[in-house]
Amino acid sequence: MRGITALSVVAALWMASAGTGTTAPSLTVLCGVDETWCAAMKTAYEAKSGLEISMTRKSTGEIFNQIRAEKAAPTVDVWWGGTGDTHLQAGSENLLEPYQPAHERDMLPWAQNFFAMSGGRSAGIYAGALGFAYNADLLRELKLPAPTCWKDLADTTYRGRIQSGNPSSSGTAFTTLATLVQLFGEDEAFRYLAALNRNIERYTTSGAAPVKAAARGKTLIGISFMHDAVTQKQAGFPLVIVAPCEGAGYEIGAVSIVKGARNLAEAKRFVDFALSPEGQGTGAASGQNQVPSNANSSLPSAAPDISMIKMVDYDFATFGSPDERSRLLHRFNAEIAATN
Ligand code: PLP
Repeated sequence: MRGITALSVVAALWMASAGTGTTAPSLTVLCGVDETWCAAMKTAYEAKSGLEISMTRKSTGEIFNQIRAEKAAPTVDVWWGGTGDTHLQAGSENLLEPYQPAHERDMLPWAQNFFAMSGGRSAGIYAGALGFAYNADLLRELKLPAPTCWKDLADTTYRGRIQSGNPSSSGTAFTTLATLVQLFGEDEAFRYLAALNRNIERYTTSGAAPVKAAARGKTLIGISFMHDAVTQKQAGFPLVIVAPCEGAGYEIGAVSIVKGARNLAEAKRFVDFALSPEGQGTGAASGQNQVPSNANSSLPSAAPDISMIKMVDYDFATFGSPDERSRLLHRFNAEIAATN
């Protein structure tokens, strides 16, 4: 057995059962979740499949733009993670390959609805609520009131003390924008965003960056998915997580195969793994706290209980449309980001 690694034995068994021959093809995955989970998934799936995976973390809007730009000659096989409305937008632009995953029948109802809405091009892998979190130590030091609502964040008391993602690159921030439009109506949401903008220290490329900055006291408040904040809190940072009083937004994170994928058969196998309890378990194992979509997956013990949170009735059909995305981003860039 000298020289034969456990990995190569697993690979041989996997390929023999799959009848794929002796050369392990590679698979290119763009990963939209936290870097830690991207790395854990790569390790887990390489061990299972014997494939060499190219796994790169990017923000959701960046992945969408890359897949769009490479439409004529795709280099990416799978888009794993990131907010589902952006996957839906890509599906509507005919950039994704329809696929019926092996575990689709085990999906929770919200994930089955999402799959149907995508026309079978994108499968829900997790759900999570969107709110914000503040650094309790810094808040006390600054003698500031604790924010509990979206509207509080626009108060002048928090001038320069909030970070949010940039919705052009970050799926988290696009979910924030869409949530505010759904809660307040579009014009009122943009008036609110203009006031909030005066308190925004900077718009980050990635959606998890604001809450990581708040955790470390580099900013006071980060707008983010609550499960990202839970992960930071579990790491020992003094964060208080807020489900805003007006209502929280939420995401369905998704996985999709890119149309024209060079490794289609392997891409399908990866999607099956991503929807299996084993694949979904790599999230909790790497400290992630999203709610998994497979009914047979275990819920991470610290995952926010989304049934207890007042949530918007998120309109994925409208906010998953490419026209709505372009229109809202254009308006945000012209009226808000340009003045920051
Ligand atoms: N991190 C986590 C844990 C997420 O659940 C998501 C969304 O699916 C993201 C990051 C999205 O990242 P970004 O806002 O950078 O596109």
